[in-house]
Amino acid sequence: MANMEMKKTPMPAQSPGERRKNFREVATGYTYEMAINEAKRCLNCKTKPCQKKCPVAIDIPAFIEKLASEDIKGAYEVITRASALPAVCGRVCPQESQCESVCVRGIKGDSVAIGRLERFVADYYRENYKEEINIPASNGLKVAVVGAGPSGLTAAGDLRKMGYDVTVFEALHTAGGVLVYGIPEFRLPKDIVRDEINKLELMGVKIETNVVIGKTITVDELFEDGFEAAYVAGGAGLPRFMNIKGETLCGVYSANEYLTRINLMKAYLPESKTPIKKSSRVAVVGGGNVAMDAARSAIRLGADEVYIVYRRGMEELPARLEEIEHAEEEGIIFKTLTNPVEILGDENGNVTGMKCVKMTLGEPDESGRRRPVEVEGSEFVIELDTVIMSIGTSPNPLIHKTTPGLETNRHGCIVTDGEDGRTSREGVFAGGDAVTGAATVILAMGAGKKAAAAIDEYIKNKK
Ligand SMILES: Cc1cc2nc3c(=O)[nH]c(=O)nc-3n(C[C@H](O)[C@H](O)[C@H](O)COP(=O)(O)OP(=O)(O)OC[C@H]3O[C@@H](n4cnc5c(N)ncnc54)[C@H](O)[C@@H]3O)c2cc1C
Repeated sequence: MANMEMKKTPMPAQSPGERRKNFREVATGYTYEMAINEAKRCLNCKTKPCQKKCPVAIDIPAFIEKLASEDIKGAYEVITRASALPAVCGRVCPQESQCESVCVRGIKGDSVAIGRLERFVADYYRENYKEEINIPASNGLKVAVVGAGPSGLTAAGDLRKMGYDVTVFEALHTAGGVLVYGIPEFRLPKDIVRDEINKLELMGVKIETNVVIGKTITVDELFEDGFEAAYVAGGAGLPRFMNIKGETLCGVYSANEYLTRINLMKAYLPESKTPIKKSSRVAVVGGGNVAMDAARSAIRLGADEVYIVYRRGMEELPARLEEIEHAEEEGIIFKTLTNPVEILGDENGNVTGMKCVKMTLGEPDESGRRRPVEVEGSEFVIELDTVIMSIGTSPNPLIHKTTPGLETNRHGCIVTDGEDGRTSREGVFAGGDAVTGAATVILAMGAGKKAAAAIDEYIKNKK
């Protein structure tokens, strides 16, 4: 029988006081009963608006119907027809602005908790079934993928299923991209990412780590080595700074460096060889998901006070609502309508504070958001020992600089023709953050899927 409860089944989570002291996952996941109960809230709409809003077009009503009838294997099969990373997407996708935003149950109450159900299905399947991995026969044609983030991994999986001999070249020593070096363990446990990557390797995808395309080997050299096509999915990992005085002081990090030290290099573990500052008063400049992750990591490392410093208001914070709420519960202090103008240091070059000004919101700018305007004479200083800059990232220029004819725009993003990832260089396709600038996991995956289909068509037409 349908469950007509207006509210979503709540997600069990560690209490704020407890989770401030550890890096374990905050949301602990639905129990079997909770998942079945929540699945029964789905009305199984024939028009499937949720599926249309999913960048990889998961047949959401179909998987939820199977879950509601306790066919979890069937539910998993429906999801994985469209998505290679369900346990990841169930945790980090912005469902509130995608599938859940158009859920019919959301008109008079809460939408169905689609993300939580996807997570449950993926976790339950992993814990209770042994997946049979099909190893597709090779067609003998080689395709190179640059970057082992969600976009590159998705393209690699799809191309392998089509029979291509796929090699993924990854600059870091571990595959996963932002999923392993950026998003913290407390939001996305790394064994889940490893598990999903293992499945791709079992399918026959080769992953070569510690290979920097543009340094170790160029895209042109890949073609000389017999690759028929290349998919460039190098992400947007180059941090931006504000270009204000004091940004080179000791104790100023980019969010990417800070999070990489913590997530990839496990700097919080006593046995880790990578150091991280034991901070007491930290300001994170920015208001996106990355800023929330950095602030919440700083709290877990033992900081007494952590501020989010953001030039617009609470309403305009670009981070997911759930991340903002979790950050508030954990004691992060939001200093909104505040803009840094200088980072202050002592005679030894260590951060001691940040000079800021108050802001007010003026007319909308080109992004449609109200432009922050400085309030005259509003300068004040926050005492700090650490500043983390989280004001955006761009693609690293290495690949386009070493690939003649590869067009980029003024933001350094690779220009593609239409939606299938074709670039200005024949045989070179691109997608994910390298094309869009910093975006989301599911959009990067969607681009990988489209590019895989286009690469297949390109190679078939070439022969
Ligand atoms: C801290 C943080 C939190 C985030 N939180 C969320 C969230 O909650 N939900 C969400 O949907 N999105 C989130 N995002 C955004 C999301 O992670 C990205 O949009 C997504 O990972 C982009 O995927 P990608 O495959 O294009 O690039 P990436 O994940 O960046 O992967 C690119 C890979 O390419 C490699 N590479 C780069 N250059 C080279 C080279 N020259 N040679 C070889 N390899 C190279 C990199 O090392 C990297 O492994 C977050 C991002 C960050 C930084």
